[in-house]
Amino acid sequence: MVINSKSSLQETLEIAKNEGKTIGLVPTMGALHEGHLSLINFAYSHCDIVVVSIFVNPTQFNNSSDLEKYPRNVIKDAEFLKAHNEKTIVFTPEVEDIYDDKVEAESFEFGNFVNHMEGEFRTGHFDGVGSVLKRLFDIIKPHKAFFGEKDYQQLRVVKKLVEITEQDVDIIGCPTSRNEFGLAQSSRNFRLSEAELKEAELIYEALMKAKHMFGKNSIESIENEVEQMFKSNPHFDLEYFSIVKENDLIPTKTKDSNYNYRAFIAAFLGEVRLIDNMALN
Ligand code: AMP
Repeated sequence: MVINSKSSLQETLEIAKNEGKTIGLVPTMGALHEGHLSLINFAYSHCDIVVVSIFVNPTQFNNSSDLEKYPRNVIKDAEFLKAHNEKTIVFTPEVEDIYDDKVEAESFEFGNFVNHMEGEFRTGHFDGVGSVLKRLFDIIKPHKAFFGEKDYQQLRVVKKLVEITEQDVDIIGCPTSRNEFGLAQSSRNFRLSEAELKEAELIYEALMKAKHMFGKNSIESIENEVEQMFKSNPHFDLEYFSIVKENDLIPTKTKDSNYNYRAFIAAFLGEVRLIDNMALN
């Protein structure tokens, strides 16, 4: 079922809540794929009703061409969901439903970790993410909301957001869904040619290399190795490769056996920017 008006969505959900049903939200920007589906299925294992929002949020793009080229096809998305999980409620708001007449990001104090990686290379990105989610949570008032570890830094931003805004919603992280060659599913993959899709596997290979090296090698030597892997591929432009402690998400050069670590990559394949990450220990 596709609902594009805020009020009819709220009416539908109110009835369900009064019947004691739990509501799960999976916020997306559309161009749905297996990765989104894994979140939706995860959500159904925790909730009676799942709302998938499809909204390409203008305030989280720091690059206007990236926003313009972001794949959009709500009809295809609705068909995809109908085929896989017919009872899913699809919410497709307009920009004014979310932002009224002020399409601007609020500024949030998420903490130091947003000054690195995605926050460093996409200025204002997380304020945009926080702005849209705060509004979606206000409209939908879900009991639980589901986010992919594929965007691990974002998952942590959202946990911080609900702490700051005191919104009563459980934030649940879901594992990254990958194709048979390890490539993380992403809406941006739709912009890649067959040959590029094959090349994109380098990101997974680099993360696996880092994972294998992590036990016995210094962070510096892992970084050098990964940088070398990208330098030897003329189609890729590595934006960052960082190893961080999972508790603070701050890039580090030192290892301490008491902590968990994670590696993060952002790289351009041609014009398409891809990100991924992996737990190392
Ligand atoms: P997006 O439409 O790219 O904004 O993603 C919507 C949600 O789906 C976010 O919580 C993402 O982290 C999640 N997601 C996207 N790709 C994947 C994937 N391959 N595996 C798991 N979750 C994903």
